[in-house]
Amino acid sequence: MSAFDAARARADFPIFNRRVRGKPLVYLDSAATTQKPNSVIKALTAYYERTNANIHRGVHTLAEEGEKVIEESRAKAARFVNAESPSNMVFVRNTTEAINLVAHGWARKHMRPGEEVLVTELEHHSNLVPWQLLAKDKGVRLRQVPVDAEGRVTAEAARRTITPKTRLFAFSAMSNALGTLSPVADLVKVAHDSGALALVDGAQWVPHMKTDVRAWGCDFLAFSGHKMLAPAGVGFLYGKPEVLEKMDPFLGGGGMIQEVWFERSTWNTVPHRFEAGTPSLGDCAAFGAAVDYLEACGMDALRAHEEALTLKLLEVLRGEAGVTVYGPSDPKERGGVVSFNVEGVHPHDVGQVFDSEGVAVRVGHHCCQPLMRKLQTGGTARASLYLYNTEEDVAAFARGLKKVKEFFKVGAKA
Ligand code: PMP
Repeated sequence: MSAFDAARARADFPIFNRRVRGKPLVYLDSAATTQKPNSVIKALTAYYERTNANIHRGVHTLAEEGEKVIEESRAKAARFVNAESPSNMVFVRNTTEAINLVAHGWARKHMRPGEEVLVTELEHHSNLVPWQLLAKDKGVRLRQVPVDAEGRVTAEAARRTITPKTRLFAFSAMSNALGTLSPVADLVKVAHDSGALALVDGAQWVPHMKTDVRAWGCDFLAFSGHKMLAPAGVGFLYGKPEVLEKMDPFLGGGGMIQEVWFERSTWNTVPHRFEAGTPSLGDCAAFGAAVDYLEACGMDALRAHEEALTLKLLEVLRGEAGVTVYGPSDPKERGGVVSFNVEGVHPHDVGQVFDSEGVAVRVGHHCCQPLMRKLQTGGTARASLYLYNTEEDVAAFARGLKKVKEFFKVGAKA
């Protein structure tokens, strides 16, 4: 097992004190959202107990303190992904909002009818639907890089699909449905070699592995706080300085302007130009505590821990008759997400049997309906890991799987 002490980390998460259906909680749904450590919960309540004030232009003590802690979160986010500066980090609510901001602020301004947005067959609906709306509005085309038989996106496939008309290549660094890790820097290079910008959907990558936007060279990175220990309601869009400067605002209102007349306005500097209205103050403030926690764990140790547990999950599933596992067979090519189906059993039924054992797994299409169609399935059951999962959780998962097979008589002789 890795050096990372998950059992110790677990003690920092109060939710593990509760029981589910009389059993200890086994949480294997972190790809959907993660549990929160005490330090994040404390930071959130501390904001409202001690600091609460609206930010921007406040001259009183509370407003100044509030602004300081929120700007510290922005600076920590910048450091966490190795951005050039905190001003490259735009506060948004989540990955979905970050991608929509690019669609509205960048693509609507810079793309012409007939030009193309390229995505991959792995994408979450959040990285498809905004481009479909854009396509309808602006007459641009949406095209996809095909995945191979193990659900991988290769640079060769991207190179074959991209065209001189492609202005943006938007792809996920890690698939939430299959766990596939993409060769991010190579895909960015494919985009740049073809004259397109690259947007990385980092919703699943950023919480689990070291992220370095400058090493990747990407133009945009979108991610959500709630998948990395922070409260829901805060996320970021990273943008290269020169790219953000050439973007239009998406939402208009307070905070994003410099001067306003009745007939026109001028815009605030980046990133404030993209942050209209009052943000989720407490959530933004508490984001920094999540970064502190992850940095104290060490992202390399965390990745090693998840990789070891992923291998164990795969071992549980692989030997089983009647079980299909999706995604890359090599754990080095996947994050801590394992999607599977049990022959003849609806994923929802699989999920309910697991729940009866106190084991939380997600079931369904995972917001990836086109990918599910490609895999010729309506959905899957999915176990996903984080720093608080242990070998005992994998053992509970194995018990859940055994119960599913016994209950539905899967693999039993006729
Ligand atoms: N992209 C990926 C790869 C995701 O896994 C998710 C969340 N499941 C999203 C985008 C959307 O994230 P959010 O709901 O936080 O906007």
